[in-house]
Amino acid sequence: MNKGKVIIAGAGPGDPDLLTIRAAKYLQQADVVLTDRLVSDEILKKYISVNAEIIFVGKQCRRGHSTPQEFINHLLVMHANNGKLVVRLKGGDVSLFANILDELTVLESNGIPFEIIPGVTAASGAAAYAAIPLTARGLSTAVRLLTYYKSDIVDDNYWKELAQTNDTLVFYMSAETLPDLVYQLTCNGIDPEKLMAIVQQATTPCQHVQVISLYDFDANKNNKLVSPTLVIIGKVVNLHQRFKWVENNNAGKYYFAPLTGKIKKQAVILEDVIVS
Ligand code: SAH
Repeated sequence: MNKGKVIIAGAGPGDPDLLTIRAAKYLQQADVVLTDRLVSDEILKKYISVNAEIIFVGKQCRRGHSTPQEFINHLLVMHANNGKLVVRLKGGDVSLFANILDELTVLESNGIPFEIIPGVTAASGAAAYAAIPLTARGLSTAVRLLTYYKSDIVDDNYWKELAQTNDTLVFYMSAETLPDLVYQLTCNGIDPEKLMAIVQQATTPCQHVQVISLYDFDANKNNKLVSPTLVIIGKVVNLHQRFKWVENNNAGKYYFAPLTGKIKKQAVILEDVIVS
């Protein structure tokens, strides 16, 4: 049997219209779609053929729901070896905080052909829909895409440097560690003119943007952030108030369903895989 092919594609940050045309074309042709949690349901409904199989393989580690990477790898290889066109759909862009290396490695070692399709990353989506141009002239000449999902990622010297740089800082997967992140930057004397934007569910109808001084941050008031949340820090954040074009809406509502419901479906599929 001819080998199939795997398309690793970004789905963008939320708004289904931010999907690339190339990804949409492949979704229409796909036999199997393996999708993450942070992918709009509307994309799944609108572009995927009714005959295709959709498998939820999301990870939401902090909530204790997670599809083991080995299972995802297994499904990719199994379906491609069965001659299927498989789309592996990931939230945002596939090259940022997306575990793509594991999947590329397994495709390579099994001789499975693949393509990689970029997506609009959350930082770009949030920057546009919250009107915070990340390298606005005169305010910043560079941007750093970072994560602080566990505390040993950033050491003391790097905090010092992050507090001093004029680069715009964008933190992914850092909502839970936000109090510590703010503590580290303020202790290292970050310039009070640099503001922080906490952007929840960017580009979705539930987008919520809050702009505050890091020195006014109150952990008690900011402990109910809805996933996914992104944090942007820098002088460019001052532009939000002036240029914002999307109002905060649907406070507290979830655009992306938590994994709990979806994971059940996926568990059944995994059992099938193990048995077969
Ligand atoms: N590959 C993705 C990132 C995956 S890591 C990308 O390129 O965007 C998941 C993190 O991305 C979340 O914890 C959050 O910090 C961020 N994120 C993804 N979608 C988001 C959205 N719509 N709004 C805010 N943050 C988002």
